[in-house]
Amino acid sequence: MSDCIFCKLANGEIPTETAYENDYVRVIADANPANVGHLLVITKKHTANMTELDEETAAEVMKAVRKTVIAMKTALKPDGINVIQNNGEAAGQTVMHFHMHVIPRYYGDGILPTWRQLHPEQVETHAAVAAIAAALQEQK
Ligand code: 5GP
Ligand code: ZN
Repeated sequence: MSDCIFCKLANGEIPTETAYENDYVRVIADANPANVGHLLVITKKHTANMTELDEETAAEVMKAVRKTVIAMKTALKPDGINVIQNNGEAAGQTVMHFHMHVIPRYYGDGILPTWRQLHPEQVETHAAVAAIAAALQEQK
């Protein structure tokens, strides 16, 4: 996509701080990091989000994320690491080109809010899971 900033970054059209790259992904520094060393694993192929990601690229993305997490643990020795991926504006996605966040975490850094947990009696889980299970069966 000619007007997509992440396409330009992924394919080297715009130079950027790069930790790793291969035929499928480039691992770059987030321009507005949550913590020092916050990286983005971005696909070289333009794909808006995970619903559009092909299976081969999805597998390669996860391999690159795994390598990145292991390297981050070695290099930065954080207390923990979050891997986060947002799909759609309602989920917090701001750049509509597939990417995964790899964020080093430290006790007390307070950078990510957690969610409130519903009690089982407050929700009817079965219908939702059954609908997803049926949709999974439909997938090729
Ligand atoms: P999202 O909210 O879509 O999951 O995350 C988008 C991320 O991309 C944000 O963390 C933001 O800081 C980062 N970002 C946005 N524009 C640029 C850019 O031009 N270069 C880099 N390196 N990161 C960017
Ligand atoms: Zn793109």
